[in-house]
Amino acid sequence: MEVCDLCLVEHFWLEIIRGNVSSLLSQALPAFPCLYLGYQDYYVIQKIYPGGIRLKKESRKIQSARHIEQHENIFACPICQKDMRVTGLKSIRCEKGHTFDFAKQGYVNFLNQPIHTKYGKDFFEVRKILLSESGFYTPLQHALSEIVADITLGKEEEISILDTGCGEGTYLHHITNHLRRSCAKKVVGVGVDISKEGIIAAARNYDQHIWTVADLANMPFHDKQFTMILSIFSPSNYEEFLRLLKQDGVVIKVVPEKNYLKELRTYSTFAHRNI
Ligand SMILES: [Zn+2]
Repeated sequence: MEVCDLCLVEHFWLEIIRGNVSSLLSQALPAFPCLYLGYQDYYVIQKIYPGGIRLKKESRKIQSARHIEQHENIFACPICQKDMRVTGLKSIRCEKGHTFDFAKQGYVNFLNQPIHTKYGKDFFEVRKILLSESGFYTPLQHALSEIVADITLGKEEEISILDTGCGEGTYLHHITNHLRRSCAKKVVGVGVDISKEGIIAAARNYDQHIWTVADLANMPFHDKQFTMILSIFSPSNYEEFLRLLKQDGVVIKVVPEKNYLKELRTYSTFAHRNI
């Protein structure tokens, strides 16, 4: 969040220098767009000094609710398929009253009943380290980012990317940020996974995207909403992909081949033998 903090300081002190403190105060919740990543963070006034004011960032839950509110038109109730609206910055609700609350981490769970997967919190923490910090997946992330940038090159409209089976969200984060930097287009990133633990990790790790827990066979979005759907080492539901894609939309699927993780498997076997 360092980049956004820079933007905040820049915008905030610019207002102060212009002697425009009163206009800032008149806005209950001023928003400061980040110049680099193209998304907005929201701050509330914490304390007023003679020479200025101190701001504090709003809670993750409220920030997420505001972010989703800007894009609520993409959502369709997974129960009745009606339009959905953010209500009171606490939940998203359909016309028939089906209501789904924002979690404190900033995601929305659209499942009626909890589904337990074999992947727990520890799995996603390790996965993030492996994907973000080990460097093993850097070539894949670069390749995907370049492909996505090429595909969106001629598109004028806002780019909306849905990552299905996003886990802890590393791919979606890197791809959308690369796109924002390289083409300066407005990009909306939405991640969906059936694993609540994965989405909790995603919401904690990367707070500028929309994160949802949902059934990949019944995703909570209207038809033809996405420019691109990612399915990276995860199961696919092509019928649902077809429903959600815009007319000229694209699915990018990454499938492991027989040598995938071969070195790691070899190392793992070797290490196990030497314990
Ligand atoms: Zn409904």
